[in-house]
Amino acid sequence: MTGFAPAQPPWDGFVVIPGMPNGHSHAFQRALVGMGERVEETPNFWSWRALMYRLAAVIGPDEMELLATLAYLEMLQAGFTSVAEFLYLHHGPDGRPGVAMAEAVVRAARRVGIRLRLVPAYYERGGFEAALDPVQKMRFVHHSIDAFEDYLRALGGVPLGVAAHSIRAVCPASLERLGELAVRLGDGLFHIHVAEQRLEVEESRRFYGAGPIAMLDQLGLVTPHLQAVHGTHADRAERRLLVERGANLVLCPTTEAYLADGIFPAVEYLDRGGSWAVGTDANVARDAVSELRLLEYGQRLCSGQRSNLAGRSGIGTRLWQDAARGGARAVGFPVGVLEPGAFADLVMLEDPCLLTGGDPDLDLDAFLIGGSRETIARVYVGGRLRSGSGIPNEQVSLRADAGRLIGWLRERMFERPGSP
Ligand code: ZN
Repeated sequence: MTGFAPAQPPWDGFVVIPGMPNGHSHAFQRALVGMGERVEETPNFWSWRALMYRLAAVIGPDEMELLATLAYLEMLQAGFTSVAEFLYLHHGPDGRPGVAMAEAVVRAARRVGIRLRLVPAYYERGGFEAALDPVQKMRFVHHSIDAFEDYLRALGGVPLGVAAHSIRAVCPASLERLGELAVRLGDGLFHIHVAEQRLEVEESRRFYGAGPIAMLDQLGLVTPHLQAVHGTHADRAERRLLVERGANLVLCPTTEAYLADGIFPAVEYLDRGGSWAVGTDANVARDAVSELRLLEYGQRLCSGQRSNLAGRSGIGTRLWQDAARGGARAVGFPVGVLEPGAFADLVMLEDPCLLTGGDPDLDLDAFLIGGSRETIARVYVGGRLRSGSGIPNEQVSLRADAGRLIGWLRERMFERPGSP
């Protein structure tokens, strides 16, 4: 007999890597997957946002809890062990203020065991010169920073960060106060969407004479506290500012592709030693390795070269390690590393890794290039098994319930004539 005849397998034990922190999520948007993909007049970010607002208008706490439970379970199964939930859908469907929506997110995270950093976002205007639209007014807006602070305090005991939605939705004076609030109530975590869409960058330049990051720097807000989400259209000087000031950038490659935002020039940023994380943002994918792969592949498509973001130990180790470290900054927990003092948030790859036939030197590169949630055998959060064989779970009924809910929401989205 000739050909394949393995001797003793060369592997010896599982490969364990730190669980990936998810630096940016809007869990409720999980219900939009696949919507808005038909031919339309202007299929851009803003038409997608109108669709998303229709969804936001019909979600109450029960719907939020189930959608977030589904999204967080899927994240866990695909390597995310903690998540920064950037929450701007604050008030109930009747517009009544309260913390019911936020508490629904907290319950969802507890139910599946993902480590949650809740990052409520302040929202005060429809745009640089735009009035609030009905959904923004009813669901997103607190009428003052003091009211927003009361809301944060009512969430006592929940690990919090503080967000300003974006520079188009929050004026400079409020941004400064939110920066202070982040230090007082948010463990120093200040999140904000920056430079995702060209239009908001152009408007920022027109209104403030500076791009969003440069404008934030004029307010003294580009600091190690800053978690700058997207940064797709940050110019070279702004990218340099982020590095020099020690800020953290949260890239969301799948969403940035899905919403046709653009491709962040990651090679230059990483070469400068910039800190970065990944986030799943709109949650069309909830998969750590696919975010990293798309980050690298975007650079390949632009440069015409392979292995743009690889380090000396290959591409998988470098990207997973960098993103896990930056992700720990975005969620504000001692995670993302395997070392004394860090939480035992762990991802265990299948053994042997069938992508390589069990070559540990190549396992992480193979995981990055060809891996998926199937390559992951087990996921632990704080040392507790949260995904993988051996845990009783409610996944089957949860998925069925969530599927029915998503169908119901999609019908309701188009029932209200007054929706945007
Ligand atoms: Zn976002």
